[in-house]
Amino acid sequence: MNEPIKTDALIIGAGPCGLFAVFELGLLDMKAHLVDILDKVGGQCAELYPEKPIYDIPAIPYITGQGLCDALMAQVKPFGPTFHLGEMVETLEKIGEPLFRVTTDQGKVFEAKVVVIAAGGGSFQPKRPPVPGIEAYEGTSVHYAVRKMDVFRDKRLLIVGGGDSALDWTLNLTPIAKRVTLMHRRDQFRAAPDSVNKMRALVAEKKMDFALGQVTGLEGSNGQISAALAKPDKGEPYRIECDVMLPFFGLTMKLGQVANWGVNLDDDLIPVDTAAIASKVHGLLAIGDLQTYPGKLKLILSGFHEAALMAQKAYHYVYPNKRLVFQYTTSSTSLQKKLGVA
Ligand SMILES: Cc1cc2nc3c(=O)[nH]c(=O)nc-3n(C[C@H](O)[C@H](O)[C@H](O)COP(=O)(O)OP(=O)(O)OC[C@H]3O[C@@H](n4cnc5c(N)ncnc54)[C@H](O)[C@@H]3O)c2cc1C
Repeated sequence: MNEPIKTDALIIGAGPCGLFAVFELGLLDMKAHLVDILDKVGGQCAELYPEKPIYDIPAIPYITGQGLCDALMAQVKPFGPTFHLGEMVETLEKIGEPLFRVTTDQGKVFEAKVVVIAAGGGSFQPKRPPVPGIEAYEGTSVHYAVRKMDVFRDKRLLIVGGGDSALDWTLNLTPIAKRVTLMHRRDQFRAAPDSVNKMRALVAEKKMDFALGQVTGLEGSNGQISAALAKPDKGEPYRIECDVMLPFFGLTMKLGQVANWGVNLDDDLIPVDTAAIASKVHGLLAIGDLQTYPGKLKLILSGFHEAALMAQKAYHYVYPNKRLVFQYTTSSTSLQKKLGVA
């Protein structure tokens, strides 16, 4: 097992509630590490509606999903959180009173005095295209994310999809790959127009290929693809030789491993005691969309309030022998020093 990373608080999920939890914990002198399966922070706001306006954040009449994430990142900066992005929390085990061991699918191990579950609607997972037998190649020559670009150097890549991920990776990987083919069902894209224009320019310069169609099958053996079979809406089926396929068909949210963490889910939500925002497990706190209590509203503002309550409770776990004095940021010099403004 890898050497554990020790921290006061481990936050599962870097959505808006997980981010604001860093702030509330930081004001009370607790350091946080955050793990998120996405390769960026912001949860639903950044992934599902970055450009949509939100109108019900208190005192901010209008802000986009991405704007809110950027503002939260600026707000938590003084507390220096450590992010572990592109990793999914798999196991959570209680090993002390309270002390938790948490592991991720990338082999990281954390030991945290408190764990804050801010996992929202669950972990974002890539949608699998309906290609027979694709499972046999997943993780070896079919990949749903690009964790290290260099893995694809000098390979023949087939990138499938018409959204921002497909276009962004086409542009980023074309310079290092042996050859990139972008395949999409239609000659119209949901991606940013600038990316589409750049892709078309590369095709015109013969630096990459564009193919109309859908993948209907894969050829290969021992987890290694050698070609993809494809069919356009109109016209004959065809075959593209390739070493790697990267399908980008969007994301879906799955609850994942949470059910195995001893939290007694009720209708896929973690019931908490509102006085403490604590789950049934001592030291295991839950905020945001994934938890529930009578009268719960799944709103960002509710999650922010829950983060403040959570930090008060977490303090007693992290500093069992210290008294917590309630303070306002407007008047407390000690809080202002932590924020770097005094
Ligand atoms: C289209 C749309 C519009 C909305 N508009 C509004 C609005 O106007 N106002 C409002 O208040 N709310 C709105 N919401 C709801 C709001 O986005 C959610 O209430 C909010 O995102 C919940 O925040 P969260 O931090 O609890 O969870 P999320 O935003 O869901 O973030 C949870 C994070 O946890 C990660 N995660 C989960 N499990 C794991 C795991 N095992 N390991 C690692 N990472 C994991 C996920 O990848 C995700 O990034 C809207 C939602 C949608 C979909």
